[in-house]
Amino acid sequence: MERYGIGVDLGGTKILAGIVELGTGKIVSSAKKKTVPTPKEGKDGKDRDHDKENDLARRIGDAIDEAISSSGLPLNTRFAGIGVGAAGQVDRNEKVLVFAPNLGVKPNYALGALLQDRFKLPVALGNDVEAATLGELKFGAGVGCADFVCVFIGTGIGSGIVQNGQLRKGATGTAGEIGHMVISAEGRLCGCGGRGHLEAYSSRTAITRTLLGELKRGRNSILTELLAGEGTIPDPNAASSIAIRSKIIAKAIEANDELVKHVVREAAEILGLGLASVINFYNPERLILGGGLMEAVDYLFDITTREAKFEALRLPATNVEITRTGLGDFSGLTGAAMFNA
Ligand SMILES: [Zn+2]
Repeated sequence: MERYGIGVDLGGTKILAGIVELGTGKIVSSAKKKTVPTPKEGKDGKDRDHDKENDLARRIGDAIDEAISSSGLPLNTRFAGIGVGAAGQVDRNEKVLVFAPNLGVKPNYALGALLQDRFKLPVALGNDVEAATLGELKFGAGVGCADFVCVFIGTGIGSGIVQNGQLRKGATGTAGEIGHMVISAEGRLCGCGGRGHLEAYSSRTAITRTLLGELKRGRNSILTELLAGEGTIPDPNAASSIAIRSKIIAKAIEANDELVKHVVREAAEILGLGLASVINFYNPERLILGGGLMEAVDYLFDITTREAKFEALRLPATNVEITRTGLGDFSGLTGAAMFNA
């Protein structure tokens, strides 16, 4: 008999929940919800924080229910458990979101207990990069590979390290924070307060901010047109999680837009430098690159790969295989479900 698990990829913009066949990694069904409700949904303003707090667990629960009901599985199907990979710091034992400002909840949010109460199933909580790396290890681009590193480009830049076929979490569970690797002394200010860190140059947030800043200065770009089609042009100084959709960036590059190509090339070259250091330090068999922008924009992937191989030492550079994720948008969901396998 097949065993099924529930996986949840909990990111700053969306919740992706799904039912996964634990033996094969096959996704039976999935459902999506926004992480933070759009303002019009909670406009009464009354006890807003409190509502919002419970809302996250409720939304995740609703996404799970939707995935279960669209799975076509018999009503008496017993799931192995719910696994959640969350964008933020988690306490794996207490099943608490310790600090996750992008998810719109206060510190020490008891997500595990709330989901356990609703579904009467075991709940396992981990971080999103850990989940995605596990997904790639079990069923994605990491299959059959003992030593590899997954790097995800998003709001920040995170990585998961696999050593001898096992996820390496480090002494305090924070191994792989390559977004805060210093690539330029006295460089750009990073969201963490440090200077010259990789993600201040090459994260999706950094790319977005640079592009919007250039538009504000009056640079010509097809982006103006593409973003107007989306609604309004976001303010580059607004929230830290602003993002231009990957598809828009891909479209602008297809249209050979000079500004977008320039900004993406710069980000890719710096990312390549960071990855060259990873290659030199860790000597991985494979380097797996993921995140929406990396999946959608060949230009970014190609320049990053070329630069990383060019800058790294000859022997590890010749041996390392740089690829994209095997599961794409579903690495996190699949890996989270495997928390209970
Ligand atoms: Zn930093």
